[in-house]
Amino acid sequence: MRILLVEDEVSLSNAIKTILERSGYVTDAVYDGLSAVEYAQSADYDLIILDVMLPLADGFEVLRTLRRAKMDTPVMMLTAKSTIADKVTGLNEGADDYMTKPFHPEELLARVGALTRRKGNIVLRKLTFGDLTLDLGSAVLACNNETVQLSKKKFEVLKVLLYNPTMTITTENLINKVWGVDSSATDNNVEVYISFIRKKLKYLGSTVGIRKIHCLGYRLEEFRC
Ligand code: CA
Repeated sequence: MRILLVEDEVSLSNAIKTILERSGYVTDAVYDGLSAVEYAQSADYDLIILDVMLPLADGFEVLRTLRRAKMDTPVMMLTAKSTIADKVTGLNEGADDYMTKPFHPEELLARVGALTRRKGNIVLRKLTFGDLTLDLGSAVLACNNETVQLSKKKFEVLKVLLYNPTMTITTENLINKVWGVDSSATDNNVEVYISFIRKKLKYLGSTVGIRKIHCLGYRLEEFRC
């Protein structure tokens, strides 16, 4: 079960992400409206939790764009705006539920449970791309008959790349997701971990590699022999 969380308030986003992940939902957090559209269209989410007041494009705009693109992923609007007019706007634009801040974690989980059950209650346990399989529970990376145990950071970095295997993931995005938005990690830290992972891929004899896209970030690539 995979959720896209769109909330620009970092501390709230982190809190929601923790609540969801503790309950077994894999959660990708983005912090502005444009990234929300980009992520929503690049991966198959079971639910999108969408704040209304967002930088670059507000939640209503994001929702409109997604519904116009015929995307029927359930959307729960999450916002401080609690007026009836806002709720009506959200629901008219195609939102499936509407929750106002502040909220209780149990209420959030109950609503998330109700919305995601519509698509079946399968918790994502493995990510695959090419000949690679990453077990999200044990952090074991497998390729053909070989396996390696990944350390926490290597696991986290590879996980981000594998969630969006056809997308270039920006270095900034990797830092935010793996080290945290408040960290002092730099491009060099990312580079170091990418090179560790490349060594693991080489050891496994995988046909998958990590390509560096100059000035932008990284992307997985399958090399055919
Ligand atoms: Ca906001």
